[in-house]
Amino acid sequence: MKQKYSIIIIPPEHNKPSRQIQFSIKIKKVILTGSAVFGVLFSGIFIHDIYQANYIKTYNQKIAYVDKLEMDLQAKDLEIARLNNKTAEINNNLSSIASLEKKITSILKINSQPSSETSRGSFSLQSVPTAQTLDQAGTLLDNHKQVIEDYYNASVQYEDRINCTPSFLPVDGPITSPFGYRRNPFGGYSSEFHMGVDIGCAYGTPVKATADGTVTFAGWDSDFGQKLVINHGYGIVTWYCHNSQLNVKVGDKVKKGQIICLSGNSGRSTGSHLHYTVYVNGQLVDPLTFTSNNNKEQ
Ligand SMILES: [Zn+2]
Repeated sequence: MKQKYSIIIIPPEHNKPSRQIQFSIKIKKVILTGSAVFGVLFSGIFIHDIYQANYIKTYNQKIAYVDKLEMDLQAKDLEIARLNNKTAEINNNLSSIASLEKKITSILKINSQPSSETSRGSFSLQSVPTAQTLDQAGTLLDNHKQVIEDYYNASVQYEDRINCTPSFLPVDGPITSPFGYRRNPFGGYSSEFHMGVDIGCAYGTPVKATADGTVTFAGWDSDFGQKLVINHGYGIVTWYCHNSQLNVKVGDKVKKGQIICLSGNSGRSTGSHLHYTVYVNGQLVDPLTFTSNNNKEQ
């Protein structure tokens, strides 16, 4: 007799009869085998779904990353375009600066050596790649900085030269005796060389230094009375004579326009006035050479 298995199904309702299903060992094996196959298939599908979900998640993350890269590239393109425009602007400015440098060099007589044409900004920065362009712009600016420093130093020297050069007369007043040969003011028909100009002014008139310099003489001179001598450098020396009072002493540094003495009538003089003499490189020069049209302090 073949062995059989039974499954008894008892309904929840008590008034209904239970049912019994019988099946053979063969059917049992079929059921178990089917269950195993179903389990393997279900597990496979489950694992596949998990894998697919992870794949989609990774794929979406990569898409988002690519989108971000694309946006970054667009931003960088805009930045590169901006840098190119800026480079062109710098190029124009450098060309303008180079042009101005040439003019200033000519005016100030500077022997600046700003190297080759390339370093003077005469090439087009737009014709080379941006990174190289910016490197060249940096080199250009370094060269221009050196040139500007040369201009500054030249300007400082120029300003010092201006400050140390007489540019007006020490007092306001009429020229009562000019530079050069003249009849002897003390009478007779003899002539003498007048080594400066006489400027008529009231006794005690404040006398101004006509340029920056250093006092090299302050004292009595038998001809010029109370006399001041100032060395201005650059070979220029000035005298202020016949004074009634000296306000500075030897070694004092004086500035252009500074009151250095009061006029008078001391020494070999026929009346109250200021005698003013200018030497350039040891040679007497007409003081009016150094004055403006109205002889006023500038
Ligand atoms: Zn004189």
